[in-house]
Amino acid sequence: AKEAGGHRCDFFDAALGASIAQRFTIEQELRRALAHDELRLFLQPQADAQGRWRAAEALVRWQHPQRGLVPPAEFVPVAEGCELIEPMGEWVLRAACAVLGRLARQGRRVTLAVNVSPRQFHHPGFVDAVRAALQDHGAAGTDLVLEVTEGVVVQGVEAVVQRMQALTALGVRFSLDDFGTGYSSLAYLKRLPIHELKIDRAFVRDAPDDPSDAALVEAIIAVAERLGLRVVAEGVETDAQAAFFARWPHVLQQGYRWGRPAPADEVLAAWPWDDGA
Ligand code: C2E
Ligand code: CA
Ligand code: CA
Ligand code: CA
Repeated sequence: AKEAGGHRCDFFDAALGASIAQRFTIEQELRRALAHDELRLFLQPQADAQGRWRAAEALVRWQHPQRGLVPPAEFVPVAEGCELIEPMGEWVLRAACAVLGRLARQGRRVTLAVNVSPRQFHHPGFVDAVRAALQDHGAAGTDLVLEVTEGVVVQGVEAVVQRMQALTALGVRFSLDDFGTGYSSLAYLKRLPIHELKIDRAFVRDAPDDPSDAALVEAIIAVAERLGLRVVAEGVETDAQAAFFARWPHVLQQGYRWGRPAPADEVLAAWPWDDGA
């Protein structure tokens, strides 16, 4: 919950195993990181069954002056526990839109997926922030995907649907992240205006070897096909996992097998553009 005065973090919201003192330090440093532009945009490709890169997920990193490159698990949950998630999330959103706008001016297009935490999604200024990020950078809404988890449905699904519709009007599409790990994933498929779901890594890992996981994955994909949803399998690491998902040519695969998250400029330099450049 937001504290009176608006500048305190609720350390108990975040599900991280750090002590309160550690969290306080992270919070202070994260404020400085935002002020000193220490966040970095990483991208991880999403490949089709032939291994062609089709889209990419934006993943934030923190270039810490002493600790080096800090992964999001060490600071995103802290930021989510306080209002720092809003400037942090907006930074990622704007960085992704800057990439989209720059590519558009070069006549190139890619789809970028940006993670949106529940608190960021429900912030009153969120729709305007997305609109401004697209406009300011000359990015097309249709090139932007917002990844949400079912945790976004905190106080009733109606407010979420309305907000998603306002963003859909900008051309933006939604992806349901970590699909299958929540309690009501299937119910939300019906009620939320999403166009894609991401099968959680937990199901992907054992799908080639474990008949139960294989059956779950097959069922999820069958449902998605019936509902006209795109599917991304996350955490595809091995050839066996890639071959398993290649049974569905239109299912995108994201994972170390096709590319690790890397600085945006590196990923874009390696991108197989149709123009051959
Ligand atoms: P996520 O959205 O589920 O992102 C996928 C995570 O899986 C990423 O970790 C990615 O590096 C990792 N991954 C990708 N392929 C593989 C693979 O083949 N094997 C394994 N073992 N892992 C793989 P990362 O970048 O550390 O991000 C962790 C989480 O942090 C993300 O999980 C997301 O929930 C959150 N996060 C990252 N960036 C942002 C952001 O900009 N905003 C918000 N709100 N959350 C973010
Ligand atoms: Ca994600
Ligand atoms: Ca995920
Ligand atoms: Ca996951």
